[in-house]
Amino acid sequence: MIKWLEHQRIRYTLSHHPIAFEIWEAVLHDYPIFQGLSSVERARLRELATLFLHRKTLAGVQGLTLSTEMAVTVAAQACLPILELGIEYYDGWVEVVIYPAAFRVTRDRQDEAGLVSQEEQALSGESWLQGPVIFAWEEDADDLTHAHAGRNVVIHELAHKLDMLNGSANGMPPLHPEMDRQRWSEVFGHAFESLKQRLSHHHPPPINPYAATAPAEFFAVVSEYFFADPQTLNHHYPALYEQLTLFYRQSPLDR
Ligand SMILES: [Zn+2]
Repeated sequence: MIKWLEHQRIRYTLSHHPIAFEIWEAVLHDYPIFQGLSSVERARLRELATLFLHRKTLAGVQGLTLSTEMAVTVAAQACLPILELGIEYYDGWVEVVIYPAAFRVTRDRQDEAGLVSQEEQALSGESWLQGPVIFAWEEDADDLTHAHAGRNVVIHELAHKLDMLNGSANGMPPLHPEMDRQRWSEVFGHAFESLKQRLSHHHPPPINPYAATAPAEFFAVVSEYFFADPQTLNHHYPALYEQLTLFYRQSPLDR
């Protein structure tokens, strides 16, 4: 019964609040990350983006006014990782907060002696457990036009959300029953350690070195590459690319 009601609700949303076709086509046409999607995938992405806009509240802050095009652009990117997973993978939170540019936050920091001090940081995005997804529009606009290859702040923050589905962000999202947990841990552990090694020897990193800061950041960064620059990821970490195709149930390399 619940399933049937949910199904009716989804059908109602899709038929009464669809994303305007012209806006949708323009967004998909303008950005390389959407290139190569089949017509079936484009239609599914449009459905997911419609549901995303209906279920989440997108709010611009610090004077940022969100146009319909901007909201659709955000929703389309946000739904790329769940294209073969479903909108329920984003259950449990509603807010998307968008800053015009990198934003400053003040955080408590505790040193080894237990002394707590306040630290100011500039962030391009962050995700809270059961809380909002936050990112800077300027950063996303640069990512979309390939100013930074393999980067996508929206996908980064939503990868954290997927990671947090089974508790805290630790680099392991809830794997599907047919996946091998041990294989995932080996492949990710090995790639993470080898990236840290390269950095400690001052060798140029094959991907954004921010990935080496924690397993959770590693998963978020490689998810960005998986969608925004799959060639680079598959070239340097083929086993890891394969694990991500199993988790996301898609292969952006084939597009
Ligand atoms: Zn992160």
